[in-house]
Amino acid sequence: MSLRIYLFFKFYDKGGYCIDYGVGMSRILVTGGAGFLGSHLCERLLEVGHEVCCTDNFYTGTRRNISHLLSNPYFDLIRHDVQLPLHLEIDEIYNLACPASPIHYQLNPIQTLKTNINGAINMLGLAKCNKAKIVQASSSEVYGDPEVHPQPESYWGKVNPACIRSCYIEGKRCAETLFFSYYHQHGLQIKIARIFNTYGPRMHPNDGRVISNFIVQALKGDDITIYGVGEQTRSFCYVDDLIEGLIGLMGTPAGITGPVNLGSPCEISIGQLAERILALTGSSSKLVYLPLPQDDPQQRQPEISRARALLNWQPKVMLNNGLRKTINYFEHLLSKGGDGNV
Ligand code: NAD
Ligand code: UDP
Repeated sequence: MSLRIYLFFKFYDKGGYCIDYGVGMSRILVTGGAGFLGSHLCERLLEVGHEVCCTDNFYTGTRRNISHLLSNPYFDLIRHDVQLPLHLEIDEIYNLACPASPIHYQLNPIQTLKTNINGAINMLGLAKCNKAKIVQASSSEVYGDPEVHPQPESYWGKVNPACIRSCYIEGKRCAETLFFSYYHQHGLQIKIARIFNTYGPRMHPNDGRVISNFIVQALKGDDITIYGVGEQTRSFCYVDDLIEGLIGLMGTPAGITGPVNLGSPCEISIGQLAERILALTGSSSKLVYLPLPQDDPQQRQPEISRARALLNWQPKVMLNNGLRKTINYFEHLLSKGGDGNV
């Protein structure tokens, strides 16, 4: 265990995010740390003075996402697959390793299941050895194609165990069960975040998620690919807000396990999102309508009163502002000829 510094004040950074130094600095493992969310989490944890160990197998993550952190003496990078055990001295674990984009998690469904299930077992084992706190990046997908709207944590979901999304959905559900089993059986300090659609800089330009797809298509002047008629809805949270929620959840007292929904309650249809991105980019790309993927959920919006009460958390970044920052990122990436491959 390594502790570098203790302070006992509350600080707010220029984005208005609260940083509570009162608990001391920790050595923190972020699995999937070279991915979209993981890289932002590593960066933020270093900013507030923690030591960070990032592990990744680079399935969907890239070295470019964390290259700016490599010179930081408090940052370590280990190439590691969570399907295998890991031995480290650690105070806290954020278990993010898992492809999040439907295209990528469906490419190798067995690996997606093993990443979620064996990964959870290995990271829970590591937490048990170290008596470490552990946050699991679960997903709104555990609600399946929901019949209750918006979705509170008390809703059990409507899930088909034999559809093309179920490797991810059932993997995330089983991981939650494993976390709760370790909590009940071994008293582990577990915390479950159910993350809803999150977007921002460092999404992979080819990962197939809707915001990265639409922005890249708009910037290149390609057709904007709306699946179905565009009436399905999602609620999009900007990455900085989500990271603040994850760190806030880790900071909750022992016994607070969640699950806690983290996401934006502002719902928008996919058709409206396309129009919004066209307006913000000034693009003249055409809208084209393609078949809706199998088992694509019709609506999704988090009920976030639990996050408000427990973490004093709610998203701060408005969709247009977050989209502008994301558009700037992709403009810069494309201007350098970046296709996202390392
Ligand atoms: P991402 O694909 O950008 O990042 C996932 C990271 O995990 C990548 O760096 C990838 O290389 C790594 N990884 C995958 N399999 C691995 C394995 N077996 N061993 C080690 N590393 C592995 O996705 P993201 O958007 O950053 O998502 C991070 C986590 O948050 C995931 O667990 C995802 O399920 C969850 N989540 C994300 C969203 C979202 O909207 N971004 C929504 C719900 C849940
Ligand atoms: N989508 C779309 N065009 C695209 C990519 C996605 O219309 O090019 C739709 C997709 O069918 C889904 C929504 O956008 O209804 C969100 O898709 P994403 O893959 O980003 O996330 P998820 O389905 O996991 O919420």
